[in-house]
Amino acid sequence: MRIARKVRKLAPYIHGEQPRGRDVIKLNTNEAAYLPSAKAMAVLKKFNPENLRRYPSAECVDLCAALAKLHRTTPDRVFVGNGSDEILSLMTDAYVEDDEAIVTLDPSYSLYRTLADIRGVKWLGFSWGGLRRKTGGKAALALITSPNNPTGVQIPPKEIAAFAKRFPGVVVVDEAYVDYADVDCMALATAKANRNIIVMRTFSKAYALAGLRVGYCVGPKDLVEALYKIKDSYNVDAIAQAVALAAIKDQKHLKGLVAKVLKTRTWFVAELEKRGWDVMPTQANFVFARPPCAKTAKADAKRVFEGLRERKIFVRYFSGPKTCDRVRFSIGTDAQMRRVLKEVDAILG
Ligand SMILES: *Cc1c(COP(=O)(O)O)cnc(C)c1O
Repeated sequence: MRIARKVRKLAPYIHGEQPRGRDVIKLNTNEAAYLPSAKAMAVLKKFNPENLRRYPSAECVDLCAALAKLHRTTPDRVFVGNGSDEILSLMTDAYVEDDEAIVTLDPSYSLYRTLADIRGVKWLGFSWGGLRRKTGGKAALALITSPNNPTGVQIPPKEIAAFAKRFPGVVVVDEAYVDYADVDCMALATAKANRNIIVMRTFSKAYALAGLRVGYCVGPKDLVEALYKIKDSYNVDAIAQAVALAAIKDQKHLKGLVAKVLKTRTWFVAELEKRGWDVMPTQANFVFARPPCAKTAKADAKRVFEGLRERKIFVRYFSGPKTCDRVRFSIGTDAQMRRVLKEVDAILG
């Protein structure tokens, strides 16, 4: 069969392994450690088949209204997608010309680079210091993950606001993990004076609904309108819209889940530090940590990853030069994290 040259050359995106089976401990893709809102699940259980016979709302009308209310803005500044991954993909089309570039942090969410490849434009990765100096040239879209993945480190909103003032293109703050953080950038996205800042959120992490596939972004009207122009007509299915709407209305569940994860995170970080690990200051539901011996950290990080995998505990290891001496552990339940520590002790001896 004939496949377009552009596609033949593409390297596929490598996502975290999705192991099957009940006895695995899955701490490799930062999903929530607990179940979603019972109120949202009640909506799922009594979902009316009549609403499946018909097409869903093309503009996610009710969901946009609820999100606008939640963030004290107007619905015309909200866009909902089939996961934030879909929104990111639309953004590469909406905001970037063929000869322009997408800039991101490095290390960061590796999907950004894949999306730039699919779009056929240049990708450039920087440290935050490097990105802040990158204010000219052909950079049309800056994707800033804060808290960042895989480090967990958050960039102060003031620094992002200052960066956006100088950056010539669109600045997207990917706040997938912000529910676990102390501060956020939403006020930058809802302020009418800011013409180029978009904040993106997802139901995949702290709302515990990764399987539902709903993400959204908030920003200036003209930028939001551009996404509507190019999206699939019915990009978010009826079940996803109804369940996400119920989940938003149950902020109490969200806060409770976050509080539990933060408690476990604090304890787990302290336990790793007791053992001599270097843990980056995390504001997310994961920690990016370097084994105690600096000289053998790279080999040890890999050994921990592989040893845990043999014991059916899945964590994440990134082989790149800036990440190869660390392991990323999503925060699970207390029992799961106790088991992780026990096995890490056994592996490193
Ligand atoms: C997990 C994650 C997302 C979420 O993507 P969805 O498509 O909404 O599931 C977005 N950005 C980053 C950086 C993530 O780690």
